[in-house]
Amino acid sequence: MLTEDAQLYIDGSFGPAARGRTAPVLAKATGQQIGTYALGEQEDVDRAVAAARAAQAGWAALAAPDRSALLLKFAAVLQDNYEELLAQSMRETGGVRAKAEDEVGTAIRQLAISAVQATENAGDILPPYKAGKLSLSRAVPLGVIGLITPWNYPMNLAMRAVAPALAFGNTVVLKPAELTPVIGGHVLAKAVHEAGFPPGVFNVVTGDGEAAGWPLATHPGLDLMDFTGSREIGVRIAEATAGSLRQIRLELGGSNAFVVLDDADLELAASCAMIASLEFQGQTCISASRHIVLREVADAYVDALTKRADALTVGDPFADGTDLGPLISEKQRDRVHKQIVEPSVRMGARVVSGGTYDGLFYRPTVLVDVTPQMPAFSQEIFGPVIPVTVVDSEREAVELVNGYPMLMNSVFSADLMRGMRVAEQLRAGEVHVNDAHARHGAENQMPGFTRRQWIGLQRTPLSLPEWAARTR
Ligand code: NAD
Repeated sequence: MLTEDAQLYIDGSFGPAARGRTAPVLAKATGQQIGTYALGEQEDVDRAVAAARAAQAGWAALAAPDRSALLLKFAAVLQDNYEELLAQSMRETGGVRAKAEDEVGTAIRQLAISAVQATENAGDILPPYKAGKLSLSRAVPLGVIGLITPWNYPMNLAMRAVAPALAFGNTVVLKPAELTPVIGGHVLAKAVHEAGFPPGVFNVVTGDGEAAGWPLATHPGLDLMDFTGSREIGVRIAEATAGSLRQIRLELGGSNAFVVLDDADLELAASCAMIASLEFQGQTCISASRHIVLREVADAYVDALTKRADALTVGDPFADGTDLGPLISEKQRDRVHKQIVEPSVRMGARVVSGGTYDGLFYRPTVLVDVTPQMPAFSQEIFGPVIPVTVVDSEREAVELVNGYPMLMNSVFSADLMRGMRVAEQLRAGEVHVNDAHARHGAENQMPGFTRRQWIGLQRTPLSLPEWAARTR
Protein backbone atom coordinates (compact mmCIF):
# COMPACT_ATOMS: atom_id res chain seq x y z
CA MET A 1 0.00 0.00 0.00
CA LEU A 2 1.67 3.21 -1.16
CA THR A 3 -1.18 5.67 -0.76
CA GLU A 4 -1.64 6.94 2.78
CA ASP A 5 -1.25 10.23 4.63
CA ALA A 6 1.71 12.12 3.22
CA GLN A 7 4.48 12.52 5.76
CA LEU A 8 7.90 13.97 5.17
CA TYR A 9 10.54 11.56 3.94
CA ILE A 10 13.98 12.70 5.03
CA ASP A 11 17.18 10.69 5.32
CA GLY A 12 15.34 7.43 4.82
CA SER A 13 12.66 8.01 7.50
CA PHE A 14 9.01 9.03 7.37
CA GLY A 15 7.82 11.54 9.93
CA PRO A 16 5.82 14.66 10.68
CA ALA A 17 6.85 18.21 9.89
CA ALA A 18 8.97 19.91 12.55
CA ARG A 19 6.00 21.90 13.76
CA GLY A 20 3.61 18.98 13.43
CA ARG A 21 1.18 20.85 11.17
CA THR A 22 -0.91 19.05 8.55
CA ALA A 23 -3.54 19.96 5.94
CA PRO A 24 -6.23 17.87 4.22
CA VAL A 25 -5.87 16.05 0.90
CA LEU A 26 -9.12 16.30 -1.08
CA ALA A 27 -10.74 14.16 -3.79
CA LYS A 28 -11.38 16.78 -6.45
CA ALA A 29 -14.58 15.30 -7.88
CA THR A 30 -16.36 14.96 -4.52
CA GLY A 31 -14.61 17.47 -2.31
CA GLN A 32 -14.22 14.75 0.33
CA GLN A 33 -11.13 14.54 2.49
CA ILE A 34 -9.10 11.45 1.59
CA GLY A 35 -6.05 12.04 3.76
CA THR A 36 -3.66 14.61 5.13
CA TYR A 37 -0.23 15.91 4.21
CA ALA A 38 2.52 17.28 6.42
CA LEU A 39 3.11 21.03 6.17
CA GLY A 40 6.87 21.21 5.95
CA GLU A 41 8.72 24.49 6.44
CA GLN A 42 12.22 25.96 6.37
CA GLU A 43 13.70 23.70 9.06
CA ASP A 44 12.36 20.60 7.33
CA VAL A 45 13.82 21.76 4.03
CA ASP A 46 17.16 22.44 5.73
CA ARG A 47 17.18 18.93 7.14
CA ALA A 48 16.28 17.38 3.78
CA VAL A 49 18.96 19.31 1.88
CA ALA A 50 21.56 18.36 4.51
CA ALA A 51 20.58 14.68 4.20
CA ALA A 52 20.77 14.86 0.40
CA ARG A 53 24.20 16.53 0.60
CA ALA A 54 25.53 13.93 3.01
CA ALA A 55 24.32 11.07 0.83
CA GLN A 56 25.42 12.41 -2.55
CA ALA A 57 29.08 11.39 -2.72
CA GLY A 58 28.32 7.83 -1.64
CA TRP A 59 25.45 7.54 -4.10
CA ALA A 60 27.58 8.84 -6.97
CA ALA A 61 30.34 6.42 -6.00
CA LEU A 62 28.07 3.39 -6.40
CA ALA A 63 28.76 1.47 -9.58
CA ALA A 64 26.35 2.49 -12.33
CA PRO A 65 24.80 -1.00 -12.58
CA ASP A 66 23.99 -0.85 -8.85
CA ARG A 67 22.22 2.51 -9.20
CA SER A 68 20.50 1.17 -12.27
CA ALA A 69 19.27 -1.93 -10.40
CA LEU A 70 17.74 0.26 -7.68
CA LEU A 71 15.93 2.34 -10.29
CA LEU A 72 14.48 -0.85 -11.76
CA LYS A 73 13.32 -1.95 -8.30
CA PHE A 74 11.73 1.49 -7.85
CA ALA A 75 9.88 0.93 -11.15
CA ALA A 76 8.83 -2.58 -10.09
CA VAL A 77 7.31 -1.33 -6.83
CA LEU A 78 5.28 1.26 -8.74
CA GLN A 79 4.22 -1.36 -11.30
CA ASP A 80 3.13 -3.74 -8.51
CA ASN A 81 0.85 -1.00 -7.17
CA TYR A 82 -0.33 0.24 -10.57
CA GLU A 83 -4.11 0.08 -10.01
CA GLU A 84 -3.84 1.73 -6.60
CA LEU A 85 -1.75 4.53 -8.13
CA LEU A 86 -4.24 5.08 -10.96
CA ALA A 87 -7.09 5.45 -8.47
CA GLN A 88 -5.06 7.83 -6.33
CA SER A 89 -4.19 9.98 -9.34
CA MET A 90 -7.85 10.04 -10.42
CA ARG A 91 -8.95 11.09 -6.92
CA GLU A 92 -6.25 13.67 -6.31
CA THR A 93 -6.11 15.28 -9.76
CA GLY A 94 -9.70 14.68 -10.97
CA GLY A 95 -8.45 13.18 -14.23
CA VAL A 96 -10.12 10.25 -16.00
CA ARG A 97 -8.51 6.80 -16.10
CA ALA A 98 -6.75 7.35 -19.45
CA LYS A 99 -5.04 10.42 -18.03
CA ALA A 100 -3.95 8.50 -14.93
CA GLU A 101 -2.61 5.67 -17.11
CA ASP A 102 -0.58 8.20 -19.06
CA GLU A 103 0.76 9.79 -15.89
CA VAL A 104 1.68 6.62 -13.99
CA GLY A 105 2.75 4.64 -17.07
CA THR A 106 5.08 7.39 -18.25
CA ALA A 107 6.63 7.66 -14.80
CA ILE A 108 7.41 3.93 -14.72
CA ARG A 109 8.78 3.98 -18.28
CA GLN A 110 10.98 6.93 -17.39
CA LEU A 111 12.62 4.91 -14.63
CA ALA A 112 13.33 2.05 -17.02
CA ILE A 113 14.89 4.41 -19.56
CA SER A 114 17.03 6.20 -16.98
CA ALA A 115 18.17 2.85 -15.57
CA VAL A 116 19.57 1.97 -18.98
CA GLN A 117 21.07 5.39 -19.59
CA ALA A 118 22.91 5.20 -16.27
CA THR A 119 24.98 2.36 -17.64
CA GLU A 120 25.67 3.79 -21.07
CA ASN A 121 28.60 5.71 -22.43
CA ALA A 122 29.40 8.47 -19.96
CA GLY A 123 31.79 10.56 -21.98
CA ASP A 124 34.02 11.08 -24.97
CA ILE A 125 37.63 10.85 -25.93
CA LEU A 126 38.53 14.17 -27.50
CA PRO A 127 41.25 14.97 -30.02
CA PRO A 128 44.22 16.08 -27.92
CA TYR A 129 45.40 19.66 -28.09
CA LYS A 130 49.00 18.55 -28.25
CA ALA A 131 50.77 15.44 -29.36
CA GLY A 132 51.39 12.97 -26.57
CA LYS A 133 48.36 14.02 -24.51
CA LEU A 134 45.05 12.30 -23.86
CA SER A 135 41.83 14.31 -23.47
CA LEU A 136 38.76 12.83 -21.86
CA SER A 137 35.38 14.43 -21.24
CA ARG A 138 33.02 12.66 -18.89
CA ALA A 139 29.58 13.27 -17.45
CA VAL A 140 29.61 13.75 -13.69
CA PRO A 141 26.65 14.43 -11.37
CA LEU A 142 25.70 17.97 -10.51
CA GLY A 143 25.15 17.12 -6.85
CA VAL A 144 21.98 17.96 -4.91
CA ILE A 145 18.88 18.69 -6.98
CA GLY A 146 15.90 20.62 -5.56
CA LEU A 147 12.69 19.79 -7.39
CA ILE A 148 9.33 21.60 -7.25
CA THR A 149 6.43 20.19 -9.25
CA PRO A 150 2.84 21.10 -10.22
CA TRP A 151 -0.45 19.29 -9.66
CA ASN A 152 -1.55 18.41 -13.19
CA TYR A 153 0.61 15.35 -13.97
CA PRO A 154 2.27 15.14 -10.57
CA MET A 155 3.85 11.72 -10.80
CA ASN A 156 5.46 11.84 -14.21
CA LEU A 157 6.44 15.51 -14.00
CA ALA A 158 8.35 14.61 -10.83
CA MET A 159 9.75 11.45 -12.35
CA ARG A 160 11.09 13.08 -15.50
CA ALA A 161 13.61 14.79 -13.21
CA VAL A 162 13.88 12.26 -10.37
CA ALA A 163 14.79 9.28 -12.56
CA PRO A 164 17.63 10.83 -14.61
CA ALA A 165 18.88 12.78 -11.58
CA LEU A 166 19.21 9.63 -9.49
CA ALA A 167 20.51 7.58 -12.41
CA PHE A 168 23.47 9.90 -12.89
CA GLY A 169 24.45 10.03 -9.21
CA ASN A 170 22.61 13.11 -7.95
CA THR A 171 20.48 13.21 -4.81
CA VAL A 172 17.08 14.88 -4.73
CA VAL A 173 14.77 16.90 -2.47
CA LEU A 174 11.25 17.01 -3.92
CA LYS A 175 8.48 19.43 -2.93
CA PRO A 176 5.29 18.25 -4.68
CA ALA A 177 2.29 20.53 -5.28
CA GLU A 178 0.04 20.93 -2.25
CA LEU A 179 -3.02 19.85 -4.26
CA THR A 180 -1.44 16.46 -5.05
CA PRO A 181 1.04 15.64 -2.27
CA VAL A 182 0.39 11.88 -2.19
CA ILE A 183 0.54 10.93 -5.88
CA GLY A 184 3.15 13.63 -6.55
CA GLY A 185 5.49 12.86 -3.67
CA HIS A 186 4.56 10.44 -0.93
CA VAL A 187 4.06 7.39 -3.15
CA LEU A 188 7.48 7.99 -4.71
CA ALA A 189 9.05 8.10 -1.25
CA LYS A 190 7.26 4.89 -0.28
CA ALA A 191 8.45 3.14 -3.43
CA VAL A 192 12.04 4.36 -3.01
CA HIS A 193 11.97 3.15 0.58
CA GLU A 194 10.60 -0.24 -0.38
CA ALA A 195 13.16 -0.55 -3.20
CA GLY A 196 15.96 -0.11 -0.64
CA PHE A 197 17.66 3.11 -1.73
CA PRO A 198 20.31 4.41 0.72
CA PRO A 199 18.96 7.04 3.17
CA GLY A 200 19.15 10.64 1.98
CA VAL A 201 19.33 9.86 -1.74
CA PHE A 202 15.69 10.82 -2.28
CA ASN A 203 13.79 13.10 0.10
CA VAL A 204 10.28 14.54 0.01
CA VAL A 205 9.11 17.64 1.85
CA THR A 206 5.39 18.15 1.37
CA GLY A 207 3.97 21.58 2.08
CA ASP A 208 2.73 24.79 0.61
CA GLY A 209 4.41 26.96 -1.98
CA GLU A 210 5.56 29.85 0.18
CA ALA A 211 6.32 27.93 3.38
CA ALA A 212 8.06 24.86 1.91
CA GLY A 213 8.62 25.67 -1.79
CA TRP A 214 10.33 29.02 -1.37
CA PRO A 215 12.92 27.82 1.20
CA LEU A 216 13.76 24.97 -1.16
CA ALA A 217 13.82 27.09 -4.32
CA THR A 218 16.22 29.58 -2.74
CA HIS A 219 18.26 27.11 -0.69
CA PRO A 220 22.02 27.74 -0.89
CA GLY A 221 22.71 24.03 -0.45
CA LEU A 222 21.43 23.02 -3.90
CA ASP A 223 23.44 22.55 -7.07
CA LEU A 224 20.40 22.76 -9.35
CA MET A 225 16.88 24.00 -8.73
CA ASP A 226 14.42 22.36 -11.10
CA PHE A 227 11.01 24.05 -11.10
CA THR A 228 7.92 23.14 -13.10
CA GLY A 229 4.99 25.48 -12.64
CA SER A 230 3.69 28.93 -13.37
CA ARG A 231 5.60 31.66 -15.13
CA GLU A 232 4.98 33.99 -12.19
CA ILE A 233 6.69 31.76 -9.60
CA GLY A 234 9.41 30.71 -12.04
CA VAL A 235 10.37 34.33 -12.65
CA ARG A 236 10.39 35.05 -8.90
CA ILE A 237 12.75 32.13 -8.30
CA ALA A 238 15.02 33.21 -11.17
CA GLU A 239 15.22 36.75 -9.81
CA ALA A 240 15.81 35.69 -6.23
CA THR A 241 18.60 33.25 -7.08
CA ALA A 242 20.33 35.12 -9.92
CA GLY A 243 23.02 36.49 -7.60
CA SER A 244 24.09 33.02 -6.49
CA LEU A 245 24.82 31.96 -10.10
CA ARG A 246 23.42 28.57 -9.12
CA GLN A 247 21.91 26.59 -11.99
CA ILE A 248 18.14 26.64 -12.29
CA ARG A 249 15.89 24.95 -14.78
CA LEU A 250 12.42 26.33 -15.33
CA GLU A 251 9.61 24.48 -17.10
CA LEU A 252 6.83 27.05 -17.29
CA GLY A 253 3.58 27.70 -19.12
CA GLY A 254 2.65 29.53 -22.30
CA SER A 255 -0.19 30.25 -24.69
CA ASN A 256 0.07 27.45 -27.24
CA ALA A 257 -1.43 27.79 -30.71
CA PHE A 258 -3.36 25.49 -33.02
CA VAL A 259 -3.25 26.72 -36.61
CA VAL A 260 -5.84 25.55 -39.15
CA LEU A 261 -4.96 26.47 -42.75
CA ASP A 262 -7.53 26.80 -45.54
CA ASP A 263 -6.79 23.37 -47.06
CA ALA A 264 -6.91 21.46 -43.76
CA ASP A 265 -8.91 18.30 -43.13
CA LEU A 266 -11.35 19.96 -40.72
CA GLU A 267 -12.69 16.76 -39.21
CA LEU A 268 -9.14 15.68 -38.40
CA ALA A 269 -8.30 19.13 -37.01
CA ALA A 270 -11.46 19.24 -34.87
CA SER A 271 -10.91 15.77 -33.50
CA CYS A 272 -7.27 16.59 -32.64
CA ALA A 273 -8.50 19.82 -31.02
CA MET A 274 -10.49 17.79 -28.51
CA ILE A 275 -7.25 16.30 -27.23
CA ALA A 276 -5.08 19.36 -27.70
CA SER A 277 -7.40 21.70 -25.82
CA LEU A 278 -9.55 19.49 -23.61
CA GLU A 279 -7.41 16.61 -22.39
CA PHE A 280 -7.43 16.70 -18.56
CA GLN A 281 -9.90 19.58 -18.77
CA GLY A 282 -7.31 21.66 -20.63
CA GLN A 283 -5.07 21.77 -17.55
CA THR A 284 -1.78 20.92 -19.22
CA CYS A 285 1.15 23.16 -20.06
CA ILE A 286 0.93 21.99 -23.67
CA SER A 287 -2.83 22.58 -24.08
CA ALA A 288 -3.69 24.47 -27.27
CA SER A 289 -5.19 27.71 -26.04
CA ARG A 290 -5.39 29.73 -29.27
CA HIS A 291 -7.03 28.33 -32.40
CA ILE A 292 -5.97 30.48 -35.33
CA VAL A 293 -8.02 29.65 -38.40
CA LEU A 294 -8.04 30.91 -41.96
CA ARG A 295 -11.30 32.70 -42.80
CA GLU A 296 -12.29 30.39 -45.69
CA VAL A 297 -12.72 27.42 -43.35
CA ALA A 298 -13.53 29.11 -40.04
CA ASP A 299 -17.30 28.47 -39.99
CA ALA A 300 -16.95 24.83 -40.97
CA TYR A 301 -14.17 24.34 -38.39
CA VAL A 302 -16.28 25.89 -35.61
CA ASP A 303 -19.21 23.63 -36.58
CA ALA A 304 -16.98 20.57 -36.37
CA LEU A 305 -15.60 21.70 -32.99
CA THR A 306 -19.03 22.47 -31.56
CA LYS A 307 -20.50 19.14 -32.65
CA ARG A 308 -17.71 17.30 -30.84
CA ALA A 309 -17.59 19.50 -27.74
CA ASP A 310 -21.36 19.23 -27.24
CA ALA A 311 -21.11 15.44 -27.29
CA LEU A 312 -18.58 15.22 -24.44
CA THR A 313 -19.60 14.04 -20.99
CA VAL A 314 -18.39 15.96 -17.96
CA GLY A 315 -18.62 14.28 -14.56
CA ASP A 316 -17.18 11.79 -12.10
CA PRO A 317 -13.84 10.57 -13.49
CA PHE A 318 -14.57 7.09 -12.13
CA ALA A 319 -17.87 6.77 -14.05
CA ASP A 320 -17.90 4.94 -17.38
CA GLY A 321 -18.11 7.27 -20.34
CA THR A 322 -16.82 10.39 -18.60
CA ASP A 323 -14.60 12.44 -20.89
CA LEU A 324 -13.81 15.37 -18.62
CA GLY A 325 -13.60 15.39 -14.82
CA PRO A 326 -13.61 18.41 -12.51
CA LEU A 327 -11.23 21.35 -12.58
CA ILE A 328 -8.61 21.09 -9.86
CA SER A 329 -9.98 23.80 -7.53
CA GLU A 330 -12.45 26.65 -7.19
CA LYS A 331 -9.56 29.04 -7.66
CA GLN A 332 -8.78 27.47 -11.02
CA ARG A 333 -12.44 27.43 -12.07
CA ASP A 334 -12.81 31.11 -11.18
CA ARG A 335 -9.67 31.93 -13.09
CA VAL A 336 -11.03 30.20 -16.19
CA HIS A 337 -14.51 31.69 -15.94
CA LYS A 338 -14.03 35.10 -14.35
CA GLN A 339 -10.62 36.03 -15.71
CA ILE A 340 -10.72 34.44 -19.15
CA VAL A 341 -14.21 33.62 -20.46
CA GLU A 342 -16.34 36.43 -18.97
CA PRO A 343 -13.97 39.31 -19.77
CA SER A 344 -13.47 37.97 -23.31
CA VAL A 345 -17.24 37.83 -23.80
CA ARG A 346 -17.54 41.39 -22.50
CA MET A 347 -14.97 42.37 -25.14
CA GLY A 348 -17.04 40.81 -27.95
CA ALA A 349 -16.33 37.06 -27.99
CA ARG A 350 -19.33 34.71 -28.37
CA VAL A 351 -19.88 31.38 -26.60
CA VAL A 352 -21.11 28.79 -29.13
CA SER A 353 -20.74 25.77 -26.85
CA GLY A 354 -20.43 25.42 -23.06
CA GLY A 355 -19.48 28.45 -21.01
CA THR A 356 -21.29 27.10 -17.94
CA TYR A 357 -20.29 25.08 -14.88
CA ASP A 358 -21.65 23.13 -11.97
CA GLY A 359 -19.26 23.22 -9.02
CA LEU A 360 -15.86 22.29 -10.43
CA PHE A 361 -17.39 20.64 -13.51
CA TYR A 362 -16.86 23.04 -16.40
CA ARG A 363 -18.48 22.36 -19.78
CA PRO A 364 -16.10 22.26 -22.74
CA THR A 365 -16.41 25.70 -24.22
CA VAL A 366 -16.00 27.03 -27.75
CA LEU A 367 -15.51 30.80 -28.02
CA VAL A 368 -15.59 32.57 -31.40
CA ASP A 369 -14.84 36.12 -32.55
CA VAL A 370 -11.81 36.08 -30.28
CA THR A 371 -9.28 38.85 -30.92
CA PRO A 372 -5.66 39.10 -29.73
CA GLN A 373 -6.65 41.79 -27.23
CA MET A 374 -8.80 39.36 -25.25
CA PRO A 375 -7.52 37.28 -22.32
CA ALA A 376 -8.82 34.14 -24.07
CA PHE A 377 -6.17 34.75 -26.70
CA SER A 378 -3.26 36.24 -24.82
CA GLN A 379 -3.27 34.23 -21.58
CA GLU A 380 -2.66 30.63 -20.72
CA ILE A 381 -6.19 29.33 -19.98
CA PHE A 382 -5.60 26.06 -18.12
CA GLY A 383 -9.23 25.08 -18.58
CA PRO A 384 -11.47 23.40 -21.20
CA VAL A 385 -11.86 26.40 -23.49
CA ILE A 386 -11.29 26.59 -27.25
CA PRO A 387 -10.97 30.21 -28.39
CA VAL A 388 -11.16 30.67 -32.18
CA THR A 389 -9.50 33.62 -33.90
CA VAL A 390 -9.98 34.15 -37.64
CA VAL A 391 -7.15 35.44 -39.87
CA ASP A 392 -6.91 36.25 -43.57
CA SER A 393 -3.53 34.81 -44.47
CA GLU A 394 -0.94 32.25 -43.54
CA ARG A 395 1.48 35.08 -42.81
CA GLU A 396 -0.92 36.73 -40.41
CA ALA A 397 -1.36 33.39 -38.65
CA VAL A 398 2.41 32.97 -38.19
CA GLU A 399 2.82 36.51 -36.88
CA LEU A 400 0.00 36.05 -34.38
CA VAL A 401 1.38 32.74 -33.12
CA ASN A 402 4.88 34.12 -32.66
CA GLY A 403 3.78 37.16 -30.67
CA TYR A 404 3.31 35.21 -27.41
CA PRO A 405 5.29 32.78 -25.27
CA MET A 406 4.47 29.16 -26.08
CA LEU A 407 5.69 25.61 -25.63
CA MET A 408 4.01 23.55 -28.31
CA ASN A 409 1.91 24.21 -31.40
CA SER A 410 0.02 22.36 -34.11
CA VAL A 411 -0.47 23.19 -37.81
CA PHE A 412 -3.11 21.58 -40.02
CA SER A 413 -2.84 21.50 -43.82
CA ALA A 414 -3.64 18.90 -46.48
CA ASP A 415 -0.29 19.76 -48.03
CA LEU A 416 2.38 18.25 -45.81
CA MET A 417 5.15 20.46 -47.20
CA ARG A 418 3.04 23.56 -46.58
CA GLY A 419 2.41 22.36 -43.03
CA MET A 420 6.15 21.83 -42.55
CA ARG A 421 6.93 25.26 -43.98
CA VAL A 422 4.58 26.95 -41.52
CA ALA A 423 5.76 24.75 -38.64
CA GLU A 424 9.35 25.80 -39.28
CA GLN A 425 8.40 29.45 -38.85
CA LEU A 426 6.79 28.97 -35.43
CA ARG A 427 8.95 29.80 -32.44
CA ALA A 428 7.85 26.93 -30.23
CA GLY A 429 9.84 24.18 -28.60
CA GLU A 430 7.76 21.59 -30.41
CA VAL A 431 5.38 21.75 -33.40
CA HIS A 432 3.11 19.03 -34.75
CA VAL A 433 1.78 18.86 -38.31
CA ASN A 434 -1.70 17.35 -38.64
CA ASP A 435 -1.59 16.06 -35.08
CA ALA A 436 -2.41 17.06 -31.55
CA HIS A 437 0.55 17.28 -29.25
CA ALA A 438 1.95 13.80 -29.36
CA ARG A 439 2.16 12.17 -26.01
CA HIS A 440 5.28 13.33 -24.29
CA GLY A 441 7.06 9.99 -24.18
CA ALA A 442 9.43 9.39 -21.35
CA GLU A 443 11.94 9.03 -24.12
CA ASN A 444 11.90 12.82 -24.30
CA GLN A 445 14.55 12.63 -21.66
CA MET A 446 15.04 15.86 -19.78
CA PRO A 447 18.65 16.93 -20.24
CA GLY A 448 20.80 18.65 -17.71
CA PHE A 449 21.47 16.40 -14.75
CA THR A 450 25.14 16.10 -15.42
CA ARG A 451 27.83 18.55 -16.27
CA ARG A 452 30.75 17.93 -18.57
CA GLN A 453 34.01 17.46 -16.84
CA TRP A 454 36.95 17.89 -19.13
CA ILE A 455 40.02 16.00 -18.12
CA GLY A 456 43.37 16.70 -19.67
CA LEU A 457 46.16 14.32 -18.92
CA GLN A 458 49.46 13.26 -20.24
CA ARG A 459 49.29 10.19 -22.36
CA THR A 460 52.75 9.08 -21.41
CA PRO A 461 54.04 7.52 -19.36
CA LEU A 462 50.64 6.10 -18.21
CA SER A 463 48.76 3.81 -20.52
CA LEU A 464 44.97 4.02 -20.44
CA PRO A 465 44.52 0.82 -18.35
CA GLU A 466 47.07 2.12 -15.87
CA TRP A 467 45.25 5.44 -15.70
CA ALA A 468 41.97 3.63 -15.17
CA ALA A 469 43.52 1.58 -12.39
CA ARG A 470 44.91 4.65 -10.65
CA THR A 471 41.72 6.63 -10.79
CA ARG A 472 39.45 3.79 -9.77
P1 NAD B 1 2.38 27.05 -9.45
O1 NAD B 1 3.55 27.83 -9.92
O2 NAD B 1 1.36 27.78 -8.65
O3 NAD B 1 2.84 25.84 -8.52
C1 NAD B 1 3.80 24.91 -8.97
C2 NAD B 1 4.62 24.46 -7.78
O4 NAD B 1 5.28 25.59 -7.25
C3 NAD B 1 3.78 23.87 -6.64
O5 NAD B 1 4.49 22.82 -6.04
C4 NAD B 1 3.69 25.02 -5.66
O6 NAD B 1 3.52 24.64 -4.31
C5 NAD B 1 5.04 25.68 -5.85
N1 NAD B 1 5.07 27.07 -5.44
C6 NAD B 1 4.04 27.95 -5.38
N2 NAD B 1 4.48 29.12 -4.89
C7 NAD B 1 5.79 28.97 -4.68
C8 NAD B 1 6.81 29.83 -4.18
N3 NAD B 1 6.55 31.08 -3.83
N4 NAD B 1 8.06 29.35 -4.09
C9 NAD B 1 8.35 28.08 -4.47
N5 NAD B 1 7.43 27.22 -4.91
C10 NAD B 1 6.18 27.67 -5.02
O7 NAD B 1 1.77 26.35 -10.72
P2 NAD B 1 0.54 25.34 -10.77
O8 NAD B 1 -0.70 26.13 -10.69
O9 NAD B 1 0.72 24.24 -9.81
O10 NAD B 1 0.74 24.71 -12.23
C11 NAD B 1 0.26 25.33 -13.36
C12 NAD B 1 1.37 25.98 -14.15
O11 NAD B 1 2.43 25.05 -14.36
C13 NAD B 1 0.91 26.39 -15.52
O12 NAD B 1 1.42 27.66 -15.82
C14 NAD B 1 1.51 25.33 -16.42
O13 NAD B 1 1.70 25.73 -17.75
C15 NAD B 1 2.79 25.03 -15.74
N6 NAD B 1 3.27 23.70 -16.13
C16 NAD B 1 4.36 23.62 -16.92
C17 NAD B 1 4.81 22.37 -17.34
C18 NAD B 1 6.03 22.23 -18.24
O14 NAD B 1 6.54 21.12 -18.38
N7 NAD B 1 6.50 23.31 -18.85
C19 NAD B 1 4.15 21.22 -16.93
C20 NAD B 1 3.02 21.35 -16.12
C21 NAD B 1 2.60 22.62 -15.70
